[in-house]
Amino acid sequence: MAYDIAIIGAGPAGATLARLLDRNYKILLLDRRDLIDGELSQRTKCCGGLLAPDAQQMLGKMGLAVPTNILVDPQVFLVRTIDFDNSLERYYQRFYFNMDRYGFDQWLVSLIPDNVDIAMGCRFTALSETREGYDIAFMFQNKIFTEKVKVVVGADGAWSNVRHQLFGKSDSLRSYISIQEWFETDENIPHFGAIFDSNITDFYSWTISKDGKLIIGSALKPDNNAKDKFEMLKNNLKDYGFEFGRCVKREGAYILRPRKSDILTGNDNAALVGEAGGFISPSSAEGLSFAFNSAYALAQSLNEGIEGFQPRYRKRAGKIARKIMLKQLKSTVMYNKTLRGIVMRSGILSSDVLF
Ligand SMILES: Cc1cc2nc3c(=O)[nH]c(=O)nc-3n(C[C@H](O)[C@H](O)[C@H](O)COP(=O)(O)OP(=O)(O)OC[C@H]3O[C@@H](n4cnc5c(N)ncnc54)[C@H](O)[C@@H]3O)c2cc1C
Repeated sequence: MAYDIAIIGAGPAGATLARLLDRNYKILLLDRRDLIDGELSQRTKCCGGLLAPDAQQMLGKMGLAVPTNILVDPQVFLVRTIDFDNSLERYYQRFYFNMDRYGFDQWLVSLIPDNVDIAMGCRFTALSETREGYDIAFMFQNKIFTEKVKVVVGADGAWSNVRHQLFGKSDSLRSYISIQEWFETDENIPHFGAIFDSNITDFYSWTISKDGKLIIGSALKPDNNAKDKFEMLKNNLKDYGFEFGRCVKREGAYILRPRKSDILTGNDNAALVGEAGGFISPSSAEGLSFAFNSAYALAQSLNEGIEGFQPRYRKRAGKIARKIMLKQLKSTVMYNKTLRGIVMRSGILSSDVLF
């Protein structure tokens, strides 16, 4: 048996798991991106790069503090909520860290101990069950390699190939396609913008200022109209007073909006963490705290021994799943035009803006 544990994906979930696993395990961590010294265009995950309070708390609990060199301008304290359905606008206090997402991923990878074999630029392609666990196959520089592992962990994000191979067609995940465009702008908007417009999406859209650029993003139903809806969003924002110039970057990624049945932890020789397991907020799409929490729960379960780790992980992940279901409940208010209108009109928990 070459490896005890192979982790597919070195994003926040995979890198955290690799850092926390017992050093006596023989561990392989692979990622199709090169998070150490690859080309920038191929390294960056499409993300808002906002570290929310739950994720900050979890980092603190794990004894970590964010290095300042991964923070970007500006740091924001208010969410400007624009509700096009009800023609309402309100500000809400929320403390985010505005980060360079690639720098964040790279920092998490830099914390992984030396006993973990890190293979960057390796794309996982397939797994097949063996008596002791799995054979995994991956591509590196157009060549296929295989490794024997006792436990395979899918930390490969929203469009998880590991999950697909384990659960196949029976798995009907609710995913959205998110599009983000980065624009030149002279304005440095001091708020994170959350935009609700049911003509665009039944989820939400956002604006974030980052290092002199304005990001406009939206989580859209993955159909043929997604591109048109995104164009409509940009036009609506221009009409609303947003000023932005030339588009300098366009990116896209799947993003999950999990229901209870979408949360899967794996089987006796395989586990899913982070977005691959369905661990992300269905109300705000905040995923970093869920990536850390699920990775921590799996590390605890594996560190008590490989034998029987899955029921232990399922139990610990149950707590995270319940939190996701609470967020689901919050969604029913947030994404109902009438209820959202009542809450916003009431001004409850909102903040006045003086300038
Ligand atoms: C547009 C957008 C904006 C978002 N904004 C925020 C935000 O501001 N704050 C927040 O908290 N959350 C945000 N999220 C959610 C957050 O990005 C994710 O939930 C989080 O990154 C999940 O971490 P993860 O490690 O599970 O997966 P990922 O970060 O997706 O990492 C998966 C890793 O697996 C690798 N991989 C995938 N397939 C393979 C393969 N076949 N072989 C090898 N490697 C593979 C990838 O290269 C990647 O490194 C956003 C998501 C999107 C799409």
